[in-house]
Amino acid sequence: MSAATTTASRRYVMTVDTRQCVGCKACVLACKGENAVPDGFCRDWVVEEVRGEFPVLSAEIRSERCNHCTEAPCVKNCPTGASWVAEGGTVLVTHGKCSGCKACISACPYDARFVHPDGYVDKCTFCLHRVQKGLMPACVTVCPTGTLTFGDAHDPDSAVSRLLRTRKSKVAHPESGAEPNLYFLV
Ligand code: SF4
Ligand code: SF4
Ligand code: SF4
Repeated sequence: MSAATTTASRRYVMTVDTRQCVGCKACVLACKGENAVPDGFCRDWVVEEVRGEFPVLSAEIRSERCNHCTEAPCVKNCPTGASWVAEGGTVLVTHGKCSGCKACISACPYDARFVHPDGYVDKCTFCLHRVQKGLMPACVTVCPTGTLTFGDAHDPDSAVSRLLRTRKSKVAHPESGAEPNLYFLV
């Protein structure tokens, strides 16, 4: 990641190259290990979508997670302030402030949140604890095919900015108005 923009003005995004993902789920396992995600839950997951009609079929494999939405409905609907926006637009949950009311879960168009067995709502953090140390998110690090790229979209020299300039991309549920920051390269 380049240091071209200040922490305050960064916009962290992740790109997911649907041409590269092989659905191995290394990203899911790495996330579970890095973030001690309890059994039966996950912060990221893999979707395999088959389109068309036989014999003209095409498949798309996508690694998905919280979109760290710019207009995050989870943050707007959280009654306790537990859901908030940290550096780079990263949406986080302060566990101690979360009452477990699930208002954010209902508001999220991406089904990205779950109730942790300890009673608070949990989800992808963009591995901000790693990013703040200059590391990449765990899922990005382990992907064997280079499907995942993370960085600052406000830095024109970042890898994500270059990918978004040179590749076609789409976001999930653009109609939601949430302005997601997970881009699928097609
Ligand atoms: Fe796809 Fe990479 Fe995740 Fe494997 S590790 S499922 S290739 S994103
Ligand atoms: Fe919130 Fe869901 Fe957007 Fe993540 S994907 S920021 S949980 S609304
Ligand atoms: Fe999990 Fe971190 Fe990847 Fe989010 S960025 S899915 S928390 S490994």
